[in-house]
Amino acid sequence: MLQVESIDVFYGNIQALKGVSLEVKKGEIVTLIGANGAGKSTLLKTISGLLKPKKGDILYEGKSIAGKAAQTIVKQGISHVPEGRRIFANMTVEENLELGAFLRKDKPGIQQDFEKVYQLFPRLYERRKQLAGTLSGGEQQMLAIGRALMARPRLLLLDEPSMGLAPLLVKTIFRIIEEINSFGTTILLVEQNANMALSIADRAYVIESGRVVLSGTAQELNASEQVKKAYLGGQ
Ligand code: ATP
Repeated sequence: MLQVESIDVFYGNIQALKGVSLEVKKGEIVTLIGANGAGKSTLLKTISGLLKPKKGDILYEGKSIAGKAAQTIVKQGISHVPEGRRIFANMTVEENLELGAFLRKDKPGIQQDFEKVYQLFPRLYERRKQLAGTLSGGEQQMLAIGRALMARPRLLLLDEPSMGLAPLLVKTIFRIIEEINSFGTTILLVEQNANMALSIADRAYVIESGRVVLSGTAQELNASEQVKKAYLGGQ
């Protein structure tokens, strides 16, 4: 479904990604783990069109999307839930969700997706008239995911959905990610919480200083001494 082929990405003179390649197959949950500053967010931003690779290519369903406008990429079926949520604080929950569908014209489909999102997150339904800025951190994360789903993506890019959440909520968010996947949405998940990420992923990539240094099935990486030491708290 998605093939990232040897991309180089720069911020000015600083090279953030160095020949990064990875693949996401239809129906999978793939996770990207790595320390702060390794380049994980940069990779998601490049896939969703917020950054352009200087070298290499990105193929989505067989066609190059590298360097295309972010709106075009959303239309093709890729939604990005950025780190830090970026919801519109002065708009209601419902208005934030509406914005997620702004490129769509199929009113009945949009209505269906509202219902789906509210089923997935009953809390958002209860708070649909509330200003998004007054939601708790966990509710804001649910809203950010819900808003991305309103674009009806086939591939969902999630950047650290568990960040700053209490352990119980982290579990809830991961359960919901699995549920979204079970309905047919393919997922590329960036996480610092490698334990949780590997527990739901099919496959994983480890990224260090802008390079992929290790990849394999989630099981393989869970068993890897290198991963245990660096990312799983050395258990
Ligand atoms: P984190 O988990 O801390 O978000 P990350 O793996 O997502 O880390 P990136 O945000 O992709 O890392 O950053 C990769 C590198 O690029 C870092 O060295 C970072 O300082 C640098 N970088 C990121 N954004 C910019 C920017 N706008 N301008 C310059 N350098 C940047």
